[in-house]
Amino acid sequence: MKKKLWGALVLLLVAAFTLGACGSKDGKDTSGKTAEDAGKDKLHVVATFSILYDIANEVGGDRVSVHSMVPIGTAPHEYEPLPEDVKKTSDADVIFYNGLNLEGGEEGWFSRLLDTTGTDESKVFELMEGVEPLYLSDKEGHEGEVNPHAFLDPTVGIQMVENARDAFVKVDPDHKDEYEKNAENMLNKLREIDQEYKDKIAEIPETKRILVTSERAYQYLAKTYGLEEGYIWAIDTEENGSPAQIKSLVDFVREHDVPALFVESNVDRRPMETVSNETGVPIAHELYSDELGKPGSEGETYTNFLKYNIENIHDGLMK
Ligand SMILES: [Zn+2]
Repeated sequence: MKKKLWGALVLLLVAAFTLGACGSKDGKDTSGKTAEDAGKDKLHVVATFSILYDIANEVGGDRVSVHSMVPIGTAPHEYEPLPEDVKKTSDADVIFYNGLNLEGGEEGWFSRLLDTTGTDESKVFELMEGVEPLYLSDKEGHEGEVNPHAFLDPTVGIQMVENARDAFVKVDPDHKDEYEKNAENMLNKLREIDQEYKDKIAEIPETKRILVTSERAYQYLAKTYGLEEGYIWAIDTEENGSPAQIKSLVDFVREHDVPALFVESNVDRRPMETVSNETGVPIAHELYSDELGKPGSEGETYTNFLKYNIENIHDGLMK
């Protein structure tokens, strides 16, 4: 008897719990779906790093649930995927990577992750597809490795958004209109930002159009908008801030009468501080390079990240 009563109580509890889970907040059960069921309708997207995460969310809108792998504060060139990254990659419907060697190229961490998970190529999309690569030539002028940092150039951002849109339409053609509408919103913002880059750079006197940063991350941006580049090291994966690298930039700054120096938010400031001390040229501002700003900061979204950079470049070089 006691046992039967207990069993009935459990049944009642289960029934109450199930009913509660099915009801929506206002008590009306409109869809008959739990939150988990709704999540199953969404495309599962994996992005290799923060900038692609933002683009995937903007273009995918309500139709996607996005996981970003390389966290803010970690360089995307070399990364050790976590168990969660491996699981999300195995379960993903769409995977976005930058390409142009950002994720370490053919032997890099991302290629190895795709091998480990046996991921089907049809799910994997390179957002730099169609972008003309620029190379990090060495001091003797030999062409070196591809510079991966094309996303710092808003015209490349336009290409990336179009690639993301086309990927979603290909994988999920039923929601084509939605992806196209979302993409158009972001493209309009990027077209305005491109114009802002042109206008702001046109205001800077020609002799002052020199962008000095720690890493040579701004090569695409510099080429598109007509800036000269100065830098301490070519890419984060090589030696950063050796005495010879610092001396070379100190000479460059003196020769070109550079008005201001910049330092990226994700690098060690000390080498650029040394250049500033030796030349007397101030570090005007921090710029964003390999990652978005932390949540709540000015560079939290890709479009704001680009705007922040041009406003600070302009302000620094106009002084
Ligand atoms: Zn970098």
